[in-house]
Amino acid sequence: MCRGTDLLVHFTYDVPPPLETRFPLAEGRTYWRELHRCTQCGHYLEWFEADQSALYGGEYVSTTYGDSAGIRRTYDKINALAPEQSDNVGRARFVDGYCRSRWPTDRLRDQRPRLLDVGAGLGVFPHRMKEAGWDCTTLDMDERLITHHRDVIGVSGVCADVQTVEGIGTFDLITFNKVLEHIVDPIAVLASVRRLLRVDGLVYIELPDGEAAEAEGKEREEYLLGHHHVFSFASYALLIARAELTLVACERLQEPSSKYTLRGFARTERP
Ligand SMILES: [Zn+2]
Repeated sequence: MCRGTDLLVHFTYDVPPPLETRFPLAEGRTYWRELHRCTQCGHYLEWFEADQSALYGGEYVSTTYGDSAGIRRTYDKINALAPEQSDNVGRARFVDGYCRSRWPTDRLRDQRPRLLDVGAGLGVFPHRMKEAGWDCTTLDMDERLITHHRDVIGVSGVCADVQTVEGIGTFDLITFNKVLEHIVDPIAVLASVRRLLRVDGLVYIELPDGEAAEAEGKEREEYLLGHHHVFSFASYALLIARAELTLVACERLQEPSSKYTLRGFARTERP
C-alpha cells in the first residue's frame, strides 16, 4: 500500500489452518501459503500459487453455502442472532447513525437515502439497512446471491462487477464490508466507485485488522486463504488515499463474532 519494496516473509502455512474453507482450487497440490509483511506500512500480502480469480463467480458460494437452499439456511441463521451477538446489527446501527448525524436533516426528509452494498454476500447488512429506512441496491458476482437479495430481502440486486456496472444511478452511501481484502487490486476497485457517489456521499470500508490479530497467532481467520490483503492501521489509511478518497473517520474494534476489524468512512474531495 505504501509502494515499499521491503517485504519479509511473516507467516508460512504448510497445512490449511483449522478455520479455513477447503476450496477446490487448493486440492490436488501440496499446500504452501505465505503472508508477506511490509516493514514500512505493516501491510500483509498473500502469496499462494493457485489462481483465485474465478472464485467468486460460483465456487465460493458452492463451497461455503452449498446451493440456493444453503444460502437461505445460512442467511436465516445469521439473521436470527441476538442483537448483541450480531456483527450486522452493530454495523447497521453504526453506519446508519454516522450518516444521519453527518448529513443535514433536509437531505433525508424527502426521500430515502440510497445505499449501494458492494459484494453483499448473504445480504444480512442491506436487510438491516432497509429496515432502518434505506433504499438498497446490492452488487455481487454470483447469480444465486442476487436472486436471494431480490426474492428474500426485497432489494434491487445487480449481478455485475462494480468497476464496469452502468445504469444503477448514484448513491448517498457505498459500502464494502470485508470485500476489498478478497481482491487483487483493491485500490482500483475502491477508486472506481467515485463515479457512483452523490455530492457529500460517503464510502464505508471494513477490512480485517491483521495488526490487532497478531497477538492470537497466525491461524486467526483474518489471515486465511482468500485474503489477498490483510491491513494495518497505516495501510488502511494508505488504501483510501491511493484510491483518491479522503479519510474522514477510522477505528479498530473486535466484533461480536470475534473478528478484528478496521472500519471507517471516506469521501471524495469537494470541488
Ligand atoms: Zn508498505
